[in-house]
Amino acid sequence: MSACYSFGKHLVKGSQVFFRSGLSFGFVNRKPVLPGHILVSPLRVVERFRDLTNDELADLFQSTQIISKVIEQEYNATSLSIALQDGPDAGQTVEHVHVHVLPRKPEDFKANDEIYDKLDEHNQVNFDGDEKANWRTETDMSKEAGRLRELFDDVYTKPV
Ligand code: AMP
Repeated sequence: MSACYSFGKHLVKGSQVFFRSGLSFGFVNRKPVLPGHILVSPLRVVERFRDLTNDELADLFQSTQIISKVIEQEYNATSLSIALQDGPDAGQTVEHVHVHVLPRKPEDFKANDEIYDKLDEHNQVNFDGDEKANWRTETDMSKEAGRLRELFDDVYTKPV
């Protein structure tokens, strides 16, 4: 994997990335709503869904499909929530298109759609203004990404 990937204004370390196609990448979340909550983005920094080229769109969704099959199995889930918050009023906080993949299990939330409230809240700065509260450590993220990398064909994980 490359050393670093742009994610909006952020940099995602290669150690967090577990999947790489021609135009997209999959990486572990620093603040997951649920275990196995990962993100898939176009390699190019594209702010809104409408700005993706046809090739990027096809690649992003094909990548999401390949990744989501693995994630569902790896986290012993029975379903998936696949979500894209497109624009600030839809809850988008990082200005770079990203698909959330969340493994789901029976009764993981009292009300099924509570997941969308959690998704809306989880990336907000907490009331102490501590943006980094509950971020995972680099070691933790790199362990998860390493484990996931093993589950994909070499073509999606070899260094570029
Ligand atoms: P949204 O609120 O839909 O824009 O989601 C942004 C997502 O990106 C949240 O799930 C964050 O936890 C996640 N996130 C933000 N920065 C990083 C980063 N550097 N590495 C991994 N995940 C990130």
